[in-house]
Amino acid sequence: MRIDVLTLFPEMFHGVFGTSILKRASEKGLLEFYLHNIRDYSASKHKNTDDYPFGGGAGMVMMAQPVFDCLDAVVGDDEAYCIYMSPKGRVLNQSIARELSEKKRLVLLCGHYEGIDERIMTKMDDEISIGDYVLTGGELPAMVLVDCISRMIGGVLGSSESAEDESFSYGLLEYPQYTRPSEFRGMSVPEVLLNGNHAHIEKWRREQSILMTAKKRPELLKDAQLTQKEREFLKNALQETDKHL
Ligand code: SAM
Repeated sequence: MRIDVLTLFPEMFHGVFGTSILKRASEKGLLEFYLHNIRDYSASKHKNTDDYPFGGGAGMVMMAQPVFDCLDAVVGDDEAYCIYMSPKGRVLNQSIARELSEKKRLVLLCGHYEGIDERIMTKMDDEISIGDYVLTGGELPAMVLVDCISRMIGGVLGSSESAEDESFSYGLLEYPQYTRPSEFRGMSVPEVLLNGNHAHIEKWRREQSILMTAKKRPELLKDAQLTQKEREFLKNALQETDKHL
């Protein structure tokens, strides 16, 4: 996948794109990152990129001209899915990330200041928010989006199971994980994980996923597919928990 980022602060991306899994993915050619500084496209003498809002009000607005010219130069008539990172957009979740991971080319536009001139939206295919709160710029949201999407692209993670088994993949949160040692400060790892019986481990993990989801994010359960046996397990487990409260 090719990802172009349009930003006033390209230097913010170097650490994230140049480290760990994203770095390895780009070295392997699975992901191609291109950073474009919107300021380079400003037609004004002092390379301005923002101006006062028409109608008054606080803050500055990113001007249409540098962004339009940057988009024309970077995308032109090529096929690309253009996303404006915005608190007004669809709130990112695992299924939106999966949908976006199937695109061949993404262009991410990062706003700053009070936002962008609305006319730029005529060039966008989508608006994505990373949550119902306001950040100073679209750079961190773009990094979050890229990180989340990248893990869904074949070959980016070490083993293909790693992304499949995780929280939200089956509408449930992930089961608890443990590593060595099996005893630590008087706390033991659940016995079932040590006995090597894979069927028992699978069953335990599935039940723990259901239980954890019920306790931490009960609203997710309405879309999860549970068997009758699993529903009974959950009912009994929650009754047991209530008894101990
Ligand atoms: N005035 C805008 C509003 O009230 O909707 C907020 C502008 S914000 C200070 C500046 C830029 O940060 C936005 O243009 C957007 O690109 C980005 N941004 C802020 N919060 C975001 C979020 N939750 N998700 C995605 N992008 C966000």
